Amino acid sequence: MLRPKILPRVLLALVLNIATSTLAQQVAFTGLFQNKFFTLSQGAELICTTSAEGQLPVVRLRQAIAYYESFNPGLRDAAVAFLTRHTNLDHLTEIRHIKRACAKQHKDALCLLEGYWDDTESALRVLALFYDTKTVIKHNNDYDYPRFEADHIHSFEKALRKIPPFMRRFITQAKPLGNLDDAFKKATIPRATQQLILDAYPEDAETRIWLDGSQPLSIIPGTGFRDQVVAQVYSGSNNIIFTIKNFDKAKDGQSYRDIGLTYLVDFRIPLIVHELGHVIDNFHFWDGKEELYFFFWYRKLSTDIIFVDLIKDSELALWPSHWFSAFEYLWEVNNGRYNGKINEKLAELFAQYILIPGQLKTDSPNGYAWLRDDIFKGIEYQGYESCPNPVVRKLSWWESATARALGK
Ligand SMILES: [Zn+2]
Repeated sequence: MLRPKILPRVLLALVLNIATSTLAQQVAFTGLFQNKFFTLSQGAELICTTSAEGQLPVVRLRQAIAYYESFNPGLRDAAVAFLTRHTNLDHLTEIRHIKRACAKQHKDALCLLEGYWDDTESALRVLALFYDTKTVIKHNNDYDYPRFEADHIHSFEKALRKIPPFMRRFITQAKPLGNLDDAFKKATIPRATQQLILDAYPEDAETRIWLDGSQPLSIIPGTGFRDQVVAQVYSGSNNIIFTIKNFDKAKDGQSYRDIGLTYLVDFRIPLIVHELGHVIDNFHFWDGKEELYFFFWYRKLSTDIIFVDLIKDSELALWPSHWFSAFEYLWEVNNGRYNGKINEKLAELFAQYILIPGQLKTDSPNGYAWLRDDIFKGIEYQGYESCPNPVVRKLSWWESATARALGK
């Protein structure tokens, strides 16, 4: 039995699923998501940059778009409709206005995406990232939420390029919940857990279903479980929600009085890589078929009976310069080492493997070897240790004194 509150959501999901499967039968696009343009970056060149550097140039984005569209007529229309899909009435009204203005100028669907982002470069980048990596970057379905800007999209692009394509493939094909009622019955989920699942179920999940019936990796601004968090990934989900205000505290140029540092590179990348670590944790065992994956949270990497001990026994490295402690719950950091929840430890190990591999290898040789051999299939990285210039600068006496007075 379902509570009345649950019904509309289930119905909506069902209706959308039927609509999506009909579409999937009508339209078959081929050769998408090759990870051919946003290639893996194993060196340190992307992470040693500010938020204004390191992203693919516009000419390259246009090449990527042209490449995928050349053998897929109709792709642009379908993709732009997907990348601007919302249920919120204010969004729908705005999209209608943009479409009308574009039609007057005899422009195609790209014009809608440019209007949606209020920026040509962002539109091109979002479209190219979708075609090549099956990642969706959108506004929150709530029209009034703060929105991502061009520099956020740069950071997402660079962080994605730190993830090996084989991992990108398994995190970009979540199955939407088609029939919660049956799912709850089959998996005999207790009533209290059902409610937890429903509460965690993102409001706009239904608007993120691509034509192949899957939910691509999604990056959306919003508020996580606790509004002080920087970002959130729900169990079983491949939707990353960033609280922009908190997230931006790690942008290049920002200072932290608590740790007395100014960031010279974009330290939002480690936050994104950490969140991607959660998604990879969620989907490590995912076969791309099981409808009820969301309920099989116990098949996460961090809850697997074999891996859980490996994770527990691995020690996190001490981050250089303590900037890391600004973003984590301090009571879970002992002597600079994170000692909290196992899924957080895994996400952080994952981030350290990519971003400070030299230090992780020294401090936690077993953890490093496990990640390299079992998780990353032998792929290794160069991290912040290899940056040619310093990545942080100490606050001057004057800066820290004024920051104190201003209560920053
Ligand atoms: Zn986390």
